[in-house]
Amino acid sequence: MRHFLALFFLISFNNGFAQKTDSVFIRQIYDEALLRGESYQNLEALCKGVGHRLTASPGADQAVIWGKELLESYNFDKVYLQKIMVPHWERGTQESAWFTDKDGERKKINVLALGGSVATDGTLKAEVIEVKTFDELKELGRAKVEGKIVFFNRAMDPKNVNTFRSYGGCYDQRGYGALEAAKLGAVGVLVRSLSLKIDYFPHTGSLRYEEGTDKIPAAAISTRDAYFLKTAINKGKVIVDMQLNCKIHPDKESYNVIAEMTGSSKKDEIILIGGHLDSWDVGEGAHDDGAGIAHSIEAFRILKQLNYKPKRTLRCVLYMNEENGNMGGKTYAEKAKTAKEVHHAALESDRGGFTPRGFSLDGTPKQVEKLQSFSELLKPYDLHIFEAGYGGVDIGPLKNGSTALIGFIPDSQRYFDHHHAQSDVFEMINQRELELGAAACASLLYLIDKHGIN
Ligand SMILES: [Zn+2]
Repeated sequence: MRHFLALFFLISFNNGFAQKTDSVFIRQIYDEALLRGESYQNLEALCKGVGHRLTASPGADQAVIWGKELLESYNFDKVYLQKIMVPHWERGTQESAWFTDKDGERKKINVLALGGSVATDGTLKAEVIEVKTFDELKELGRAKVEGKIVFFNRAMDPKNVNTFRSYGGCYDQRGYGALEAAKLGAVGVLVRSLSLKIDYFPHTGSLRYEEGTDKIPAAAISTRDAYFLKTAINKGKVIVDMQLNCKIHPDKESYNVIAEMTGSSKKDEIILIGGHLDSWDVGEGAHDDGAGIAHSIEAFRILKQLNYKPKRTLRCVLYMNEENGNMGGKTYAEKAKTAKEVHHAALESDRGGFTPRGFSLDGTPKQVEKLQSFSELLKPYDLHIFEAGYGGVDIGPLKNGSTALIGFIPDSQRYFDHHHAQSDVFEMINQRELELGAAACASLLYLIDKHGIN
């Protein structure tokens, strides 16, 4: 009995001690991020020094050099480039579009070609029809769609507190609108920007074509202009003329940028943290996904600065080409599989640099439970979401039934105001929110390394 009691006290003492050292270490992580943080200045350098960085553009090439040099400056155990092949699409000269209403009045509309769109080959001029859903489009049928420009005007649902849910409810218009409209003979597509905010910024994003279906030009239109266009259509026949000068080039060589802190007792198990280095070709990709890049690098810097010696190998991956192909994520996962690497967990930050709320995990119920077991330690830092959910686009291809894929969740209310638009610039970043995000990611990285997620 005495032995049993002694054992009991020893176990509870150890648990209490572990909790205490964890809470002390996490406090040190937050102190480092908030008092001596470098995430904000790093993001400034990326946004202002490099600027936007669409895959295969000179900006993307420069971002690779920037990322490699910055990681090298922190003296991690390894820093290297991973070669990938990426698609090369260019917007060309700035697009333009106008509509003419039933009274012959002309009005300029703000548009941005969707990523991957074909050009209009001069001016594309046609009557425009408005639909909200693919069902509505199909009901109109070829007779009413052929030769027209289809305007997809479904707004994001403001009822959802999680704006990613509203985005998911409208994404099909941008991703597949051109494909569905082309099947019925449409000659072009305009898509209401995926944003809850009513303003003049069009929001781009990628579209998909399919072999065997005509590739028709497609552009996003600002939410304000969507209102003007709809109002004109309600009064009578409206003609749109637009010019898109996009170009599609052969695939090109590019790189994921990778840094490592080598593990000790479990060095063959990898814990990855990452975001994506590429952005769209407007704005500065500050929230999407400069913030995720700054979070990942800063989480690494903080752990090294605090002299943390990981058990598992920590890997920081600055992915290329998330926006229009995900070749960085796909190639990384293929190479990891070929090399028989074991990824214990992967954490992605790609939802902006806003106030941290928590994490979602794509994995087994046991892994979700383990994530939830960390919640007490992170509650003092206002983190409260610890649930089953999505990981991230870049880490998605690592899904294999055993690797825990984790998404960092910041507040989502303002993310889509700037997503893929000219307004996604460094000035939209709040320094403290960004630093808190880096600290949250560093803390989770530490907890997973120390206690495992399985
Ligand atoms: Zn992104």
